[in-house]
Amino acid sequence: MNDLGLTNNIKNKIMKKLLNYLSVVALLVLTACNGATVITPDKNAVDFTLEGGEENVNITADGSWNISECPEWVTAEVQDSVLTIKTAKNETGAVREGDIILSGKEGVNVKIKVTQAAKCTHITPTSDKVEFEKEGGTQTVNIDTDGLPQVEAPEGFTATYAAGVLTINTPANEEGVKNGEIKLTCEDQSATIAVSQKGNICPKCNGTGKVRCTKCGGKGNIYSEYWLCIYGCSKCGGKGKSDKWGDYNFRNGSGKMTCPACGGSGH
Ligand SMILES: [Zn+2]
Ligand SMILES: [Zn+2]
Repeated sequence: MNDLGLTNNIKNKIMKKLLNYLSVVALLVLTACNGATVITPDKNAVDFTLEGGEENVNITADGSWNISECPEWVTAEVQDSVLTIKTAKNETGAVREGDIILSGKEGVNVKIKVTQAAKCTHITPTSDKVEFEKEGGTQTVNIDTDGLPQVEAPEGFTATYAAGVLTINTPANEEGVKNGEIKLTCEDQSATIAVSQKGNICPKCNGTGKVRCTKCGGKGNIYSEYWLCIYGCSKCGGKGKSDKWGDYNFRNGSGKMTCPACGGSGH
């Protein structure tokens, strides 16, 4: 009786195991049948600071998929179509990089690169100057850094940093030349990149904002035949007079005056 009970117990256990096994096989077959042929995350790279944190990636797919690979320092969870990626503080002293692989149908794999900064020791842009044409557009600068820099862009420019690349954008410029500085900072490290954009140029003064003085013709002084002396041109900053007997507070004008077409702005 006792023996029979034991045998039944073992039989039950085997049956249960078999059923579990079969359901796993069924699930695998089902997954294989409905496996996604296209998996599209809304970003292919996620950056974390030294402190770590949480980032969501929205996944669009035409079937089922799963996480087939994940670095051991990353936690990845799926809820509906949102992949939540978490990291703890990076205590390793070095930048961590790894890939999360999402897999659908056989051969359909999508990679999401995960990077976590360590203590930042340097930020080195490959270029310290970026120039845009009047039409604007996008330019990139590679940044060598072991941190995750914060980016500050001047008015009229936008700049974002991701995975070693700084992307700078500016729209078309209908005004004068624009200048500024992009600042990258990470803990106690920083770097700057000068940005400029050409603009509209005033045809009358060729962008200088100044034209030849109309009163003195650019000489900066005016000759008086009657007094046999020269006067400093008052229109372009001159003053006083000078003759062969002496200099009476004479100062030559610059010969240039504010461009009347653009009011001195140059555009
Ligand atoms: Zn003058
Ligand atoms: Zn002008």
